[in-house]
Amino acid sequence: MVGQFFIDPFLHLSIDMIYLDSNATTQIHPEVVDAMLPFLTEHWYNPSSGYRAAKVVRQALDLAHEQVAALIGAKPEEIVFTGCGTESNNAVLGFLASRAGEKRRILTSAIEHSAILRYSESLAETDGFSVEKIGVGADGRLDLEAYASALSQEAEGGCAMASLMWANNETGVIQPMAEACDLARAAGVPFHTDAIQAVGKTPVNVRDMAVDYLSISGHKFHAPKGVGALYVRGGMPFAPLLRGGGQEGGRRSGTENVASIVAMGKAAELMQARLEADGHAGVKELRDHFENRLLSELEGVRVNGSLAHRTVNTSHLSFDSCEAAGLLILLDEYGVQCSAGSACMTGKQQPSHVQTAMGIPAAQAKSSLRISFSIFTTRQECDTAVEAVKKAVNKLRSVQGGPGVGPVQVFT
Ligand code: PLP
Repeated sequence: MVGQFFIDPFLHLSIDMIYLDSNATTQIHPEVVDAMLPFLTEHWYNPSSGYRAAKVVRQALDLAHEQVAALIGAKPEEIVFTGCGTESNNAVLGFLASRAGEKRRILTSAIEHSAILRYSESLAETDGFSVEKIGVGADGRLDLEAYASALSQEAEGGCAMASLMWANNETGVIQPMAEACDLARAAGVPFHTDAIQAVGKTPVNVRDMAVDYLSISGHKFHAPKGVGALYVRGGMPFAPLLRGGGQEGGRRSGTENVASIVAMGKAAELMQARLEADGHAGVKELRDHFENRLLSELEGVRVNGSLAHRTVNTSHLSFDSCEAAGLLILLDEYGVQCSAGSACMTGKQQPSHVQTAMGIPAAQAKSSLRISFSIFTTRQECDTAVEAVKKAVNKLRSVQGGPGVGPVQVFT
């Protein structure tokens, strides 16, 4: 069927499903839809035009800069809207590489998203950089000693940049950000963080941290897909990836994606209010309830990664003697949508690089699910999902053999 959009009538539409994959993307908040719609219907002007109707659009963009800046403690002029989180990551790394001079080392971690790892590797292939990926402990947190030692080495001309994610997309584990960026600053190395899984979920304040550049993506916190932002600390150099009309203060050309930028601003405002009110206590309570029920009602369940340092919405679980690939199929059938590892890894049979870096044995890694909640998850959904997971695990174990219960290891 060419040229037509076809919906399989037998497909369960999302309306019947329990969505527990919010680290992949989130549902657009209804208030965000309300905020963006007028910019698709009534206020569709080019914000760079001179007439009054276009000024309304310009003002909406200005407000969005303020809203996103407020969420991370930045100044509005320090925010550059981009086309997605991947673009924000690529733009910073590409810029820092372009002014690296003799410095040919890129310091990052072994658990980064592919938007950092692939781009760094491409810089290594084409521009002679070496990429140093610092490992993590069994709890999924950066090996700070190795990080400090790598920053202090001046071999090969020293570090051109350091990039460390704020929170991991698979495990939700929050990295020792303050320590890492202080070390980079002390070594005089520009520091970037991919904060795409942190912003909107956990407090992120650039005023408290020696972060120079920070990437954000709207669709991870209830804005639409295809809009992101980059924080560039005032006074830090930056040259754009996209050059042309000079929009976004000359830092990202291309006529602005106004409706999506307005949406991201609104979503930022909503998330800031929730973080300030109770730090998403409701989401954390549901995640903990889900985990506690599974740990007490099912044998051979492990929670992977630090319990003390993780985003409130994420649970990374292993189920002994159960292949995640089979679990995902059964859970989809039972009405629960989640993923194994990151969404990008779904369908691949090898353990994810994140689990490998944490030293999770291959068998355990292949039996892991990433369950990620959102502000829209209800307690009833949570309880129904627990029953579905139990049913799926028991069914697979009855086919594949017993629970194979090992010592239950919980990292703190
Ligand atoms: N970095 C992290 C940690 C992510 O989780 C994602 C999305 O999955 C990205 C980068 C890419 O963001 P986007 O989908 O907006 O390009």
